[in-house]
Amino acid sequence: MAWKVIEGNSFGYDIMKQRYLNQCCQVNSVAPSTVWIGLREEIGELVSNSFSYIGDGTSTLFWLDDWLGYLLVDKCGVPFFMRDSLTQTVADYFFEGVWHFTQTFVNSFPQIVCDILLLPIGGKDARFWKPSLQGKVSSVLAFAHHGHKFPRVSWGSWIWEPFIPVRRSLVCWRLLHDRMPNYDRLIRHGLVAPNWCPICKRDAETAEHIFWNCVCVQQAWAIFLTWFDFSQGLQELDIHSFLVAAWNRQLSSQISMLWKAGIINMIWAIWTERNSCIFDSKKFSSKHILQHVKVAFLENDMNFKHLGTMKNAWTDYVVLRNIGVKGRVAPPPEFISVSWWPPITPWMKVNTDGSALGVPGEIASGGVFRDHWGWVR
Ligand SMILES: [Zn+2]
Repeated sequence: MAWKVIEGNSFGYDIMKQRYLNQCCQVNSVAPSTVWIGLREEIGELVSNSFSYIGDGTSTLFWLDDWLGYLLVDKCGVPFFMRDSLTQTVADYFFEGVWHFTQTFVNSFPQIVCDILLLPIGGKDARFWKPSLQGKVSSVLAFAHHGHKFPRVSWGSWIWEPFIPVRRSLVCWRLLHDRMPNYDRLIRHGLVAPNWCPICKRDAETAEHIFWNCVCVQQAWAIFLTWFDFSQGLQELDIHSFLVAAWNRQLSSQISMLWKAGIINMIWAIWTERNSCIFDSKKFSSKHILQHVKVAFLENDMNFKHLGTMKNAWTDYVVLRNIGVKGRVAPPPEFISVSWWPPITPWMKVNTDGSALGVPGEIASGGVFRDHWGWVR
């Protein structure tokens, strides 16, 4: 969206460009809009990583756009107080196929004139983003451009799974980034809201409270964790340390899928139930939360059968029985018959093998020599 604002190639984006950006595509106004604050951070980054291509020159500013790979106002040392008045486009200096410069400009900046004369011109004016071969910003390229700026987190791949609906993962993602619109956060951002938990109506509604510490919510968590035989006490943990402990559990593939989906569905169901308390005046019920989660278990298991099997052990059976899901038994191990024949005397037989940890990577190999009795030599 920030790119479309810079390009200004439609009526709406053109209005935003004229309203919020000056002629150098720099922000000249702060609008009271949360959307605009997000865009504003991106505009400078996009402008500094893009360049203008000259077509007919009608929408490229001669002095203020970087169509030469540098700004002419900087190269020519134009004082800052004069820059806003330099509104001439490239087309003002290039018409009927010929450049029109004053003699003073040519004498003062011969190198710049050479750069301009060597520039190919034709078609329409356009802006190209340097990191892209096509010159356009796509979501994938924008992510790759920004991705390295953010620390890698262990739960990144944990919450985004094909068997979990994205909108539910998103609630978990927002919680982990302290972006849930709970009352405490709304008050911190200057909004008028009641400063109490709509579930227990006692404590302040922080994210930690609503998703973990609230007495009513803890009842639901206690039952959920019993289902999965999670032994650590609720009082010893906060929501973040619980999630880290949850991610590090070693489980069979079927139980792991249900465990992940269950936690994210719990967080989502708590939030849904909390909203029902506020907007539908319903009474909070931990039973409703657990029902939501159990229904989600069945949906998960039905739609993603191919994703895992249980460990053929009593512990997995108990978990599956607790949550009402049928176990998918792991196939029995396959035995492959392997035989070795000794060489005839006086020959030795050598058997070798090797492996590599990636390409390039560490490699190792080994071998064993045996005689006709099978003894190692
Ligand atoms: Zn509460």
